[in-house]
Amino acid sequence: MSDRITEAPGEAKVVARSDVVVVGGGPAGFAAAVAARREGASVTLIERYPYLGGLAAGGMVLVLDDMHNGDEITTTGLCMEMIDRMAKVEACVYAPAAERLATVEMHRKWASWGLFDFRAGGKVQPIVMAAAFDPDGWKRISNEMIEEAGVDVRLHSWFSRAVMDGNRIKGVICETKEGRQAIMGEVIVDATGDLDVACAAGSPFTHGSYMLTTVFRLGGVDADTAERFRWEEPEKFAVLDRQAKKIIGGSWDRWWLRTPLPGVVWCNCPHMVGLDGISVADTTKADFEGRKRIYAMVEFIRANMPGFAACYVIDVAPQLGIRQTRLLIGDYVVTKDDVMDRVWFPDTVARGRDYYTPYRSMLPKGLEGIIVAGRHYSATESAQKNSREIPPCMAMGQSAGVAAAIAANRGIGLRAVPVAEICAKVRAQGGDPGDRPSANAKIMDRAA
Ligand SMILES: Cc1cc2nc3c(=O)[nH]c(=O)nc-3n(C[C@H](O)[C@H](O)[C@H](O)COP(=O)(O)OP(=O)(O)OC[C@H]3O[C@@H](n4cnc5c(N)ncnc54)[C@H](O)[C@@H]3O)c2cc1C
Repeated sequence: MSDRITEAPGEAKVVARSDVVVVGGGPAGFAAAVAARREGASVTLIERYPYLGGLAAGGMVLVLDDMHNGDEITTTGLCMEMIDRMAKVEACVYAPAAERLATVEMHRKWASWGLFDFRAGGKVQPIVMAAAFDPDGWKRISNEMIEEAGVDVRLHSWFSRAVMDGNRIKGVICETKEGRQAIMGEVIVDATGDLDVACAAGSPFTHGSYMLTTVFRLGGVDADTAERFRWEEPEKFAVLDRQAKKIIGGSWDRWWLRTPLPGVVWCNCPHMVGLDGISVADTTKADFEGRKRIYAMVEFIRANMPGFAACYVIDVAPQLGIRQTRLLIGDYVVTKDDVMDRVWFPDTVARGRDYYTPYRSMLPKGLEGIIVAGRHYSATESAQKNSREIPPCMAMGQSAGVAAAIAANRGIGLRAVPVAEICAKVRAQGGDPGDRPSANAKIMDRAA
């Protein structure tokens, strides 16, 4: 018997038409929607879950990093607006400029917030511009900013198909409780993180993978006692820390970090390898396996680890931590050397840390009317692993939104949008599109 069935062709009600349709309300999609709207385009933002934020909120990935190049803050724009606004409502914490130093004192003060440069070598990793935030703070501020911008948001809408006219995308179909719905647009921004839209439209892609994580939060933690133990009894700490990490089975050096909520920490673990983030079987397995490991570790740390005696699991992130799945093959594919050598491109439109993102890496090869922003952009697997943090995804989203608005407002193709104009408008919005390379950049002048 065949393992395939044929579905009857169906109809979908057209529920919205706008200049720009953004699919995916994570960091990249949020930024794209606000940026496009600020350029005067009408914008519809589609999200499958009942909130905005993607992995930042639903995945409870609670530190914004990769924002600096030495002392220079390189990811500004909407990311910085989000930080400032969350800080005003006590939903975000960062080290003041005067305390961003590579001293033991500052490291002891800020490292447990995750605000250090984890890529730096040396004895003391420097404290840098990075921000620890609360997931509901993110949802609240994104709602406010989206409302202020006048974006039409459609939650609970799961993108399933692309509406095509030859190689041009004209709209998207979503599955909803009300049935299939069509949302039509001049330009579509794919910000799904897994390349759902570009893939459905026929874009070439590679299938990458990276470890999966069920991020979780613990309450009832005495973080000061836990930190004192780490610093004042390093040998005893090392033994217990090793045992805890063995139980959880894969984590970064610091497996817990503070959040703006007193007594609440987030744990960026366990790491589970060899699983595919778009496979139903693998993602189900990760959820079951992750929870088992979490509760085993919590039992151990409650009994043994100073500061954790009264801890309890508040929640396991509603969204599984998926770092990499399908990656676009765009007009240019960014390589690991490009990222690590800080290669600057003539068509740079966004930046993270000290690396640069060319406009071509957001344009799906052979397709019209669609631009891609976020962790599924056109990069090799190893390049993406080094350039997928939340701030650079937001920077990419902001530039994609601006480019989409220019194309829609003027009725031109995305490839005809002048890069200098995208950069000028991103700058006017407060962002840094990376058009002015830093002193440590390697200048790439070839066109492709
Ligand atoms: C465990 C883990 C730890 C990490 N740690 C850090 C860290 O410490 N700091 C940091 O800066 N970054 C970190 N990252 C990376 C960062 O979280 C992601 O790379 C970033 O969130 C990507 O943003 P995005 O908008 O491209 O994608 P996502 O955040 O994945 O957002 C995609 C959005 O699209 C929606 N969507 C997807 N498919 C559909 C569909 N078919 N229909 C409708 N909507 C859809 C999703 O629901 C989601 O809202 C971490 C990632 C993970 C998984």
